[in-house]
Amino acid sequence: QLFYDPDVQRGPHALRAEEARHAFQVLRKRVGDELNLVDGKGGWYKATVASISKRECLIDVTLLRREAARASYSTTLLVAPTKNIDRFEWILEKTTEIGIDFIQPILTQHSERKNIRTDRLERVIESAMKQSLQAWLPALGNLCSFAEALQQSDPAGQKYLAYLGGQNTPQLHRTCRPGGHVTIAVGPEGGFSPAEAELAVSADFNFVSLGPQRLRTETAAITAVHTIAQLNW
Ligand code: SAM
Repeated sequence: QLFYDPDVQRGPHALRAEEARHAFQVLRKRVGDELNLVDGKGGWYKATVASISKRECLIDVTLLRREAARASYSTTLLVAPTKNIDRFEWILEKTTEIGIDFIQPILTQHSERKNIRTDRLERVIESAMKQSLQAWLPALGNLCSFAEALQQSDPAGQKYLAYLGGQNTPQLHRTCRPGGHVTIAVGPEGGFSPAEAELAVSADFNFVSLGPQRLRTETAAITAVHTIAQLNW
């Protein structure tokens, strides 16, 4: 069981309220017990419980166990939040487990959801990081327009747009090269508009297929991130 503690290097301090409750009520940690912590920036630590109640858990960080190396590649996912927020949470949870660095929620012409609660979604990512025993926390961007996300995309990286465009579209797994920074854009339930697809091309994005089936947004996003990860394992 891992705890997420971004303040871990701050000497004796309190765990976040949610983590304290989990430690006390679920894991029944008591004074003197040892906890394993990650700081979301690659650090793994051990700490001892100094005092604990339902509301507060004070800890003494005893040592830095190790620094987890960053993967040799990085992935950014541009994706439109789904109408059903649970499905969007699956994207965050599953892509975090598989390996992702940055998730940028985008507003597109056919977006069915126009707002998200970033704080709640960050908890989903934190929980998936701990569950999959990772020490690097993926970042979640604030919802922005697709045009803005395209402008901010890494000019030096590989850039792809998952496109349902027939048999001649190259397959992601045959096109994407291992290493470096890969950005992949996945559209909303209603797909990207032709104007958005054109805009992406003018921002140096290449169309890629994820196979012959029409996948739901969440399936397409998870499949794409998994394909990129597999090319790098
Ligand atoms: N009616 C929409 C259309 O025709 O574009 C369907 C959109 S699909 C449910 C949602 C998004 O998932 C698409 O915009 C695309 O980015 C991605 N997607 C789904 N299946 C795909 C596939 N087989 N290959 C590439 N991208 C796919």
